[in-house]
Amino acid sequence: MSDSFRDFWIQVLTALEPKIKRSDFLTWFQHTAIVKREGETITVGFPITLSRDWVANRNHSLLFEAIQSLDSTIKRIHYEVDGKLGQPDDLRSVDVNSVLKGLKNVKKVRNKEEYTVTNEGVRSKALNSKYTLDNFIIGSENRLAHAACLAVGRRPGGAYNPLFVYGDVGLGKTHLLQGTGNEILHRNPNAVVIYMTSERFTNEIVEAIRKQGAKDFKARYRHVDCLIIDDIQFLAHKERTQEEFFHTFNELYDANKQIIISADRPPKELKDIQDRLISRFEMGMIVDVQFPDYETRLAILQAKCREHQVLLPTEVLDFIAYNVHHSIRELEGVLMQAIAQYELEQITPTVRSVAGILKKLNRGGEFAVVDDGREHKSLAKTPDEVISIVADYFKLTKSDLIGPVRKKEILLPRQIAMYLIRKDLAASLEQIGEEFARNHTTVMHSIEKVIKLLRKDHKVVRDVNALKQEMGL
Ligand code: ADP
Ligand code: MG
Repeated sequence: MSDSFRDFWIQVLTALEPKIKRSDFLTWFQHTAIVKREGETITVGFPITLSRDWVANRNHSLLFEAIQSLDSTIKRIHYEVDGKLGQPDDLRSVDVNSVLKGLKNVKKVRNKEEYTVTNEGVRSKALNSKYTLDNFIIGSENRLAHAACLAVGRRPGGAYNPLFVYGDVGLGKTHLLQGTGNEILHRNPNAVVIYMTSERFTNEIVEAIRKQGAKDFKARYRHVDCLIIDDIQFLAHKERTQEEFFHTFNELYDANKQIIISADRPPKELKDIQDRLISRFEMGMIVDVQFPDYETRLAILQAKCREHQVLLPTEVLDFIAYNVHHSIRELEGVLMQAIAQYELEQITPTVRSVAGILKKLNRGGEFAVVDDGREHKSLAKTPDEVISIVADYFKLTKSDLIGPVRKKEILLPRQIAMYLIRKDLAASLEQIGEEFARNHTTVMHSIEKVIKLLRKDHKVVRDVNALKQEMGL
């Protein structure tokens, strides 16, 4: 209830502000609130007698007019002093400075998530301070995107407008967008930065239509200095939202306000988004983020470890960096699980324990173990067992592997089986030759072939190391 009083009072103050001398407004309306409503009477609270008397004596008719224009059912105003207003724990009163800036105060809602609301009712999730441009690790795959964000952070509404960031999920788009918003706020705490997902933007429009028929939706954004919309691809098919976004975009753009957008693909490839919007997206700067290379992945892991103040063995980080191939979110996920394991069980993660985590994440699917050159104790004790494991792994039969057929799909698995038997069971070339009914030179060439492939073919590395895992690393 007090929340709606507060919202209403902000509207009153907003309407009143242009009609009152700025210094009077700031002095006499500071930390005022509506404290109750009884029938046709509302009670306005003041922190001190002086301000109550001033407003009651000099501003009553202006105030009454403002209130009536918003709610004509109110017929009387009571003026009251309430010493709790303006105290540190007071959530009812309004900071008039924020009214001037077009902002409601940042409020906490039930789930403790903070958000910011402009006077026009546009609600932004408060930016997450953990995303900064400083703690974004730069590699060749995201260098340009980061530089563009930094330029926008330093000079919003400048040359890179709009800024369009695209890339697959989990590659750092949200981090960059929020980091840019944080940078803008850091340099100018008065800036109004609104961050939303495109779903939230759609909801805003639906709500606005419900409340006021969306007669002038774009005007809701007039106090916004930077509008950030994350994952714009979800506006597909939402014709009305696209229409309103188009107008909002133009309004902001014409006023040199910054617009930042992300998507999972470049503008041209967006599906079911109006052409005129796509051409707007193409007016500014378009940058992409891609999956970082091994070195950058390792640097990200090291940075996250520092952030969480844990120290993990280098080979474990190495192992994670090497084996995660999809997204940085996954990279972080594996690391966090390793850290959790460490904290819960007080065991330092090992390559083996992390391999277990990865295996679970991949739901038993394919994954690889870095060949670190160390001796592994093999659980597969006989050549026959190795042959079975390799056959299963490649979805072949044992007789395929030891048989005469020289098809490519069989040749490589056969060579790999020989390699593993040689390396992990330390069998002689002759012994292996007997298993496969081949002479020892063939066996030698096969093994050399695999060794050569291991140096350059990622897929083979993965297969071999996954097999080692199967054999009991
Ligand atoms: P997207 O929005 O593209 O799906 P996110 O921005 O949510 O991806 O990134 C996923 C996670 O990976 C986040 O926790 C983010 O902080 C982290 N991350 C992504 N790229 C980097 C990077 N270059 N440096 C540090 N952390 C990163
Ligand atoms: Mg995202």
